[in-house]
Amino acid sequence: MALATLDALFEDMLRDVYYAEKKLTKILPKMAKKAATPALAEAFTDHAAETEGQVERLENVFELLGKTPRAKKCEALEGLAAEGDHIMEEAETDAIMDVGLIASAQAVEHYEIARYGTLIAWANELGLTKAVTLLEQTLEEEKAADEKLTGLAEDANPTAEKKDQSAEEAA
Ligand code: FE
Ligand code: FE
Ligand code: ZN
Ligand code: FE
Repeated sequence: MALATLDALFEDMLRDVYYAEKKLTKILPKMAKKAATPALAEAFTDHAAETEGQVERLENVFELLGKTPRAKKCEALEGLAAEGDHIMEEAETDAIMDVGLIASAQAVEHYEIARYGTLIAWANELGLTKAVTLLEQTLEEEKAADEKLTGLAEDANPTAEKKDQSAEEAA
């Protein structure tokens, strides 16, 4: 797709983010299953449900443009998903799984925050005020998800478990 105008670039990025959000509706439930702490599992499950709504909002934005929603492979999300898979396959303790999952999830949220920030700026530039409103709703959800994960990371104590184990070994 040739990118000669901001309209074209906006649609191109919209398709990229549409791909990412659709893929995340499948990844987040997997992360919820792997999470050891119930509060973390719940955060992933909640954000998975929220993400279904984000997919719909993007479909509404395509509609506002008079375009059929079409996804375009997001290489960034593919890479982040591969890193998340690595954690899910290799983490050997509950605490390491949880902090690893949180780190992966926050990388995704930060990617989304960057993308929605740009989409909002471009939608403003293009005078797409209804699209701005929709995209801002999603941006707020991504920021809230990120903040929630920061709180859960602060609660997680990945070194405590190790200390307990060495105490047991010493005993
Ligand atoms: Fe999202
Ligand atoms: Fe992307
Ligand atoms: Zn490795
Ligand atoms: Fe998100």
